[in-house]
Amino acid sequence: MTEPLVLTPPAKLLQAVPRRVRGPQGPPVPVYEAVRRQFNQAAELMELNPDIRRILATTMNEIVVHFPVRMDDGHVQVFTGYRVQHNNVLGPFKGGLRYHPQLELDEVRALATWMTWKTAIARIPFGGAKGGVQIDPARHSRSELERITRRFCFALGDNIGPEYDIPAPDVNTNAQIMAWFLDTYISLRPAHERQNAMHVVTGKPIESGGSAGREKATGQGVVFLIQRWAEEHRLDLSRATFFVQGYGNVGSWTARLLQRLGARLVAAEDVTGAIAKADGLDAEALAEHARRVGGIRGFAPAVGHEAFLATPADIFVPAALENQITGATADLLNVQLVAEAANGPTDPEGDAVLRRRGIAILPDILCNAGGVIVSYFEWLQNKRSEYWELEEVDRKLRAKILGAYDRVQDAARQRDIDWRTAAYTVALGYLEAVYKDRGIFP
Ligand code: NAD
Repeated sequence: MTEPLVLTPPAKLLQAVPRRVRGPQGPPVPVYEAVRRQFNQAAELMELNPDIRRILATTMNEIVVHFPVRMDDGHVQVFTGYRVQHNNVLGPFKGGLRYHPQLELDEVRALATWMTWKTAIARIPFGGAKGGVQIDPARHSRSELERITRRFCFALGDNIGPEYDIPAPDVNTNAQIMAWFLDTYISLRPAHERQNAMHVVTGKPIESGGSAGREKATGQGVVFLIQRWAEEHRLDLSRATFFVQGYGNVGSWTARLLQRLGARLVAAEDVTGAIAKADGLDAEALAEHARRVGGIRGFAPAVGHEAFLATPADIFVPAALENQITGATADLLNVQLVAEAANGPTDPEGDAVLRRRGIAILPDILCNAGGVIVSYFEWLQNKRSEYWELEEVDRKLRAKILGAYDRVQDAARQRDIDWRTAAYTVALGYLEAVYKDRGIFP
C-alpha cells in the first residue's frame, strides 16, 4: 500500500499565526532558558564530564542571513533567515525550517539543541540544527513564498549540503517548500553533481525523492509511543478520549491515526480557535475541513481556550508551538498523559505542576522523534537510489522509536527520575561516550 501524497494547500501557508495561545497566563519561561535549565539539571544529576558539558552547552554555528526578494507588485523586501547548527558529532546537522513572523535567534537555538538530543536518543547518525525565515506567510502569495524560499536557500549557500546540513519541514513549511528548496540547491551545483544531491532536504514530495510515510511520520511516531504507554498503563485506546492542540501536519496525523485505533477526539484547537464535542469529532473530516478553509473553526461548537485546556480526556496532545503548558495553565489539564508532539510545549514551571499532579509526560525529544527518524530513512533511500514501501518504513520507524522509549524508560527506572530528565540523560550519556572515544581535536 502506498500512502497518498497530501500536499498542504496554500491556504495553510497563508494563515496568520499568533505567537501565544489566547487567554490569560503568566509569562512563560523563554524557550532557550528552558533548554538550558533542562540540560543543566540532567548534566548535574549524571555528573556529565565538565569539558563535554561546556561543548554541548553552546551551539556550534549560527548563521543569520538578510536577503532581498522582489514582491508581486514590483517592490523589493528584505527578509531575515536563520540556520543554527548546534552539534554534529553524531553526523550531519539535521533539523527543520520554520516560517513564522516572530521567529528569533534564541528560539532557533533552542530548537536546534533539542534536535541534537532527539537524534542521540533515537540513535540516528545526525546532529542537531534548525532554521527558518522571520515571515508572516499570510502576507505572501504562493509565488512570493516560492521566491522567498529559493532566495533563502541561495543565501544559505554552502552552509547546507546533503552530507553537511539537511533541512526538513516544520511549522508553516511543507513538502512543496522542500521541493523549491531542493530545486534551487541542485540548480546551483555542477550538472554532474545534481543527482547526487537529492538528499539535501527531507520531507520532499514522493515524486521528487520523498519517502513513503514521511508526511505522517511525526504523528505516527507519537501514536506508536502512545500505544506502548497505554499497554503498560492498562489504558484501552479503543475506548480512550484525547484532544489535540494544533491541527497541522503533526496534530492532524496524530488525531487521524489515534482515531483509527478507536480513540475519540473530543476537542481541537488551532490558530483559528478551539472546538469541542464530547461524543467525538471525526478526525478525518476535520482534517479535510481544515485543509479546505484554512483552519478548524466552524467544524463544531467553539469553546474558549481555558475550557479547551480543561477538557476531560485520557490524553492531551500539544502539537502547535512552544510554551503552551506553563505554571499558569498546567493546573487546568484534566488528563492522564501529555504526549508532547510539539517541540517545547511545556515550560519548566508547567513541567513541575504536571509532575506534582502525577500527570505522565512523553517528553518532546522522545515523543516527536518520528519525523527525524523517517527523514533519516528518506536520506538513506536517496543515497542508495532506493524506494521503500510504506510497510517497511512504518516497521522500521516503530522499531526505532520504541527502542528510544525503552532507553528512556530504563533510565527513568534506574535513576528514579522523571521521563524528561531521563531522556536528557540518555542523550547526554551517548554524546559523552562519543566525545570520550574521539577526544578533542587537536
Ligand atoms: P504546521 O504548520 O503543519 O501546524 C501547526 C498547527 O499549529 C496549525 O494547525 C496552527 O494553526 C496551529 N497553531 C499555531 N499557533 C497556534 C496557537 N497559538 N494556538 C493554537 N494553535 C496554533 O506545523 P507542524 O509541522 O504540525 O508542527 C507542529 C509542532 O510539531 C511544532 O512544534 C514542530 O516543531 C513540531 N514538530 C514537527 C515535525 C514535522 O515533521 N513537521 C517534527 C517534529 C516536531
